[in-house]
Amino acid sequence: MTKVAIVTGAGKGIGKAIALALAREGLDIVLAARTQKDIDETAAQIEQLGGKAFSVRCDVSNERDVQQLVSKTKERFGRIDMLVNNAGVGVFAPVAEMKPSDFDTMWGTNMRGTFLCTQAVLPVMQEQKSGDIINIASLAGRNAFKGGAGYAATKWAMIGFARCLMLEVREHNIRVVTICPGSVDTEFHPESTKNKDTSRVPKAADIAQVIVDAMNMPRHVMVSEIDVRPTNPNW
Ligand code: NAP
Repeated sequence: MTKVAIVTGAGKGIGKAIALALAREGLDIVLAARTQKDIDETAAQIEQLGGKAFSVRCDVSNERDVQQLVSKTKERFGRIDMLVNNAGVGVFAPVAEMKPSDFDTMWGTNMRGTFLCTQAVLPVMQEQKSGDIINIASLAGRNAFKGGAGYAATKWAMIGFARCLMLEVREHNIRVVTICPGSVDTEFHPESTKNKDTSRVPKAADIAQVIVDAMNMPRHVMVSEIDVRPTNPNW
């Protein structure tokens, strides 16, 4: 039986690396993001690797989109073994200057999206009596920094959400794993970090490897939270 993973935000950055890494591990992958072209490209790369993938345009903050994502996955593959709640946005500004619309977008994507996707896959995983829910939070969910109030609050919330969820679903043999990366070398960062030396910054593929390692632990072991930081940071 081939396992099936849904990866949100799989069009670029960390989500794309996770999708490719899980495909290399032999899972069938469902790719979700708002930009169809990006997820189609990721799907094509997975097929080139000999894997199976299909893309579903989905805004994770939209309940109907998320319901369709899950129903199309069930229709196509018949099961859901893993959900990676990776889709996320960050807008960095002091509270005094933050636009309420940016605040809402971060909450809608990072936290509401995590809630909606998780709630939608739970009946399937509970029936299967097995599943892995992986949340990409952030070290910003553990540490305070100027300009981070809106973003950090969503990531702090994701960690709290995941801790409660884990207590609710472990009896169904569902593991909840929260990854907290520090800086990762993706397009996520603001213009001010462009042209900086990223040689010592973890790459998206490194985060993907962490997830593969957690997934491959024996099923009776749940690595519930993992912090990932550069060994010797230069930015
Ligand atoms: P990225 O390169 O900007 O990619 C973000 C992905 O999320 C894109 O595919 C984007 O596609 C998708 N996305 C954004 N809003 C969405 C929505 N409403 N619905 C569905 N998909 C959506 O960012 P990244 O660096 O890979 O970050 C991935 C995750 O890691 C985020 O949760 C971020 O907070 C977290 N993280 C990143 C870092 C870092 O330093 N890069 C560190 C710690 C944690 P569309 O725009 O096409 O929808």
